[in-house]
Amino acid sequence: MNWVTISLSAATLFGMAVVISYILGWASKAFYVKVDPRIEAIIEALPGANCGGCGFVGCADYAEGVVLSGAAVNRCPVGGAACAASVAAIMGIEVDESYPQRPIVHCGAHYEDRKGRTPYFGEMTCQAANMVAGVQACTYGCLGFGDCTRACKYDAIHVIDGLATVDYDKCIGCGACGSVCPRNIITITPFKKSRILAVGCSNKDAGREVMAVCEVGCIGCKACAKKSELFKIEDNLPTIDYEHWDAECTLDVMEACEKCPRNRLIFVGEPSPADIAATKDKPLPEVVEADFKTTVDDTEWRG
Ligand code: SF4
Ligand code: SF4
Repeated sequence: MNWVTISLSAATLFGMAVVISYILGWASKAFYVKVDPRIEAIIEALPGANCGGCGFVGCADYAEGVVLSGAAVNRCPVGGAACAASVAAIMGIEVDESYPQRPIVHCGAHYEDRKGRTPYFGEMTCQAANMVAGVQACTYGCLGFGDCTRACKYDAIHVIDGLATVDYDKCIGCGACGSVCPRNIITITPFKKSRILAVGCSNKDAGREVMAVCEVGCIGCKACAKKSELFKIEDNLPTIDYEHWDAECTLDVMEACEKCPRNRLIFVGEPSPADIAATKDKPLPEVVEADFKTTVDDTEWRG
């Protein structure tokens, strides 16, 4: 290789570099898309958890949704009210009062409460078990294979004695558990108080059929609705309108809860100050027995 060849190669490479730089410079101007600075500002204001609890793919997608499609400013469950206020300020609007969203599991049956459980040898997921007839007699209740537990990034929901149970200290309300439950028994609900009234059953069958499949399921007897207008019976189940519930339990509501023969009107969330006060003097047990189960109890007979 002589100097002439080296010089020609270097000149060619230099020429190509100049041409490509020119093309790139032209393309960056020709295809430049102006980004609304509010999108960047909202991304900064969001917590960056990318949990999807807002209903968008992640924080950046939600920020675009707020600016470009008018999505509500208070949809971030992780950031809560403070975050909603920041996003509203960026958008120059007033934010409506918002409450943290938390999941409620609308089933109260543990293993021992369920009737008609049969051997199940399929894939140990709720999605798979839900497609097999007769895993358990109640076709509405929790299956207990923990799809919700695996979906939760915050270690906030666990299957305890066959029933999905939320740890409200850890839950941030992203909604992932609710979206994977094949039985649709987890609703994401505005928590106006840290402790909230809920209906702990999803079975819409008539009372006699419920009693045949579950020891604790709601039998649609209307005892609650007769005591308080807060409860409306639809499809053999009481409903509570959380939009209009002021979170104060008036006497009629308390009486309705006491009248329920199956104790299906329950409080979920953190214990109330009254509950804590009522148990504060109770002695702790000297020994807490572990609840051992056989392999059959925990796997093949689950349903
Ligand atoms: S339990 Fe977990 S998955 Fe469900 S809402 Fe709470 S943090 Fe999200
Ligand atoms: S709540 Fe739903 S997803 Fe969770 S264990 Fe029960 S059936 Fe499965």
